[in-house]
Amino acid sequence: MNNIVIINTGLCIGCEVCVDLCPARILYLDDDGICCVSDESRCDRLRGCERQCPTRAIKIN
Ligand code: SF4
Ligand code: SF4
Repeated sequence: MNNIVIINTGLCIGCEVCVDLCPARILYLDDDGICCVSDESRCDRLRGCERQCPTRAIKIN
């Protein structure tokens, strides 16, 4: 369970916008093409992904 990077998988469309922009390189798509987080402790919490996700699938706590 993640506490910092919260992904609403039902909203993710697998566009990879967040994967490409994340400076910490901790976002990736799983085998189903849905966004996942590898190591949220490395998140800078600057909300780049939250702002740029077209479906607002990511929230940063
Ligand atoms: S930007 Fe949003 S919709 Fe696109 S892969 Fe990331 S979480 Fe999914
Ligand atoms: S807030 Fe920044 S570092 Fe954290 S997951 Fe989003 S883009 Fe990556």
